Amino acid sequence: MIIQLEKDINEANKESIFKQVKDLKYKATEVKTQKGDYLIGTGKNDFDIRSIGHMEGIKDIHIVSDDYKLVSRKWKVKPTIIDLGDGVKIEEGGFRIMAGPCSIEGEEQIKKTIDHLKAQGIRIMRGGVYKPRSSPYSFRGLGIDGLKLWYDLAKEAGIKIVTEVMQVSQIAEMDPYVDVYQVGARNTQNFNLLDELGKNTDKPVMIKRGISGTIDELLYSAEYVFSAGNERLLLCERGIRTYENATRNTMDLNAIPVLKEKTHLPVIADPSHGIGIRHHVEPIALASIMAGADGVIYETHEKPEEAYSDGQQTLNFEESNKLIDRMRKTFELRQTF
Ligand code: PEP
Ligand code: MN
Repeated sequence: MIIQLEKDINEANKESIFKQVKDLKYKATEVKTQKGDYLIGTGKNDFDIRSIGHMEGIKDIHIVSDDYKLVSRKWKVKPTIIDLGDGVKIEEGGFRIMAGPCSIEGEEQIKKTIDHLKAQGIRIMRGGVYKPRSSPYSFRGLGIDGLKLWYDLAKEAGIKIVTEVMQVSQIAEMDPYVDVYQVGARNTQNFNLLDELGKNTDKPVMIKRGISGTIDELLYSAEYVFSAGNERLLLCERGIRTYENATRNTMDLNAIPVLKEKTHLPVIADPSHGIGIRHHVEPIALASIMAGADGVIYETHEKPEEAYSDGQQTLNFEESNKLIDRMRKTFELRQTF
């Protein structure tokens, strides 16, 4: 169960509610987020909601049978809107494009990407300054200096930044320069990192699906951040590892409608990592839109063949223009359904 507590609840009332929940043989956990105070009850027994609902200090009470609670759509019917300011929102019923290189490489590359995005009216740029690479000898990112450089150029252009945070110690130094933190597939179950992103920032966090993670595991990861304090969350399907090796990953399109049903959080599709093959990114992006994604994030670079990372799945600007046009048409079609 989720009990939403009144903001000004006094200690005595809170204690009585706790006691009542425990008497029902439920484990009671208090959660304070940047937006509200909750009491999460976990247990299995049936109970009469009226035995608690009348108590002083309760704003609302919801029975949520899912094992994850706060990210469930069962209590929060209204979808979560992620508002990045300056008219940039990510929300159900809308469709948001985020694009940019796999890695931030330098000033020229940033400027060229921004020009490409601006010409298309795209307001969110992706790019990594801390790169998780399978080999330690691969390019591992420009780090905080690259982020600062990018921030200055992006701010001037009215472009928002989504970029990966790999470890707890990076949060404080990155925070002024980030609009959306990305938690990468290799870190989806780094519970320490998730906890700290809940406690130490009010910036939105986009959590990617783990490399071999289930849909429920992704939801639990979001529950970590939410219950640690930060409700501003997005989920990203980026393909999972299966026995199929003709593609880099297997884009799990199934996950999109399933997540949309299970959670109130926006769901983003990443077809670039999902299939890993440049000329197949477009059909997977379009299919993701029809499957109900609230946004698509993909990789683009002026010269993909020279990109420092993930060139094989990166679109050049001409291909990117074509994709944007087709995504917009697909979204229009979806709206007629
Ligand atoms: C990326 O977005 O470039 C990336 C490393 O993604 P993922 O964590 O999904 O592999
Ligand atoms: Mn990449």
